Amino acid sequence: MAYKKFDTALIHGGISTDERTGAVNVPIYQTSTFKQDGLGKMRGYEYSRTGNPTREALEALIAELEGGYAGFAFASGLAAETAVLSLLHSGDRVLISSNVYGGTFRLLNQVFDHFNINYTISDTEDIVSFEKDITADVKAVLIESPANPLMTVTDIRAVAETAHRHGLLVIVDNTFMTPYLQKPIDLGADIVIHSATKYLGGHSDVVAGLAVVKTKYLAEKIAFIQNSTGGVLPPFDSFLLIRGIKTLAVRLDRHVANAEAAAKRLSDHPAVKSVHYPGLPTDKGYEVNKRQAKNGGAMISFELKDNYDINVFYESLKLITLAESLGGVESLVCHPSTMTHAAIPEEIRKKVGITDGLIRLSIGIEDIDDILEDLEQAIKASEVK
Ligand SMILES: *Cc1c(COP(=O)(O)O)cnc(C)c1O
Repeated sequence: MAYKKFDTALIHGGISTDERTGAVNVPIYQTSTFKQDGLGKMRGYEYSRTGNPTREALEALIAELEGGYAGFAFASGLAAETAVLSLLHSGDRVLISSNVYGGTFRLLNQVFDHFNINYTISDTEDIVSFEKDITADVKAVLIESPANPLMTVTDIRAVAETAHRHGLLVIVDNTFMTPYLQKPIDLGADIVIHSATKYLGGHSDVVAGLAVVKTKYLAEKIAFIQNSTGGVLPPFDSFLLIRGIKTLAVRLDRHVANAEAAAKRLSDHPAVKSVHYPGLPTDKGYEVNKRQAKNGGAMISFELKDNYDINVFYESLKLITLAESLGGVESLVCHPSTMTHAAIPEEIRKKVGITDGLIRLSIGIEDIDDILEDLEQAIKASEVK
């Protein structure tokens, strides 16, 4: 059943109860196979790679939340991307935003290149230059907005309109925003992908990926690829994700309130050289982001001035944890050039502005005073006297 109000759908959307027992949570169907009542007489399931009731409940839920035709759950965000990019054929090319997730770049640069599926890094912030990059072999565009780690904003509606005029498939990685803050299918996307490891899971305890498609045609294609390539999400992890998604709205409200306060504090700070956060009215992506998303999300990146030692900064943080990943309840910090974006060659990193001084924060839902105090003391400790 589809719910009109998003916050209700988070809790009751998709298949939210067990028809047989009335259990208010979908059970973990920890089974690889299903009894058949006779040759060709299945009860809706045959083998858990092809379909599993717990995974199916999650898939129905994310389809409803993103406003798509069907959803698919994978063992990681990159498994979801692999399945979606498997729609392409040898000789095809995909345009990607200039600062996509490092693993997305690596997948195209070092795996799909084996199959002669090519990519071009395109400045999707600039629609004129984006359109110029559409050569005859381009079949799809993959964007992130805000994109990782410089939080650059792409006008999803404008890119989708231009791309569709050229017959391209529009794929949006909505990991940083989630459907609570931004709905790419409403803005014209054909496919939404997620690293559900991040905000949707929300507790840094599961690695998972999701894909949502707009049409029945794409749903049939992705269902076939999902079953054929097999990178499916297990039942227990599907359950964890359903559980995480129930609190998405309340978690994100706090994440965003904290991030807005932290971004403001950093941008006013005399030690800070630059802040990248599309929720700041001074940010270059602010206006476009405001048109297409509820707010700026909870990811911030910034640089300290040259007389601060970032190694000391990272080592001085006490509450904010130095770790890969983002979107969990706890605040995390990372160093994009050596961590999340290390797979991108140095000259490309430099070209798109991922400097060695760039610090990325995933603002958690702790008390904001503790977050600000931790940042303050680490900045102070890192000043080179
Ligand atoms: C983490 C991440 C991915 C990859 O997802 P995994 O679940 O780690 O495989 C893809 N896109 C973005 C934006 C991410 O942050």
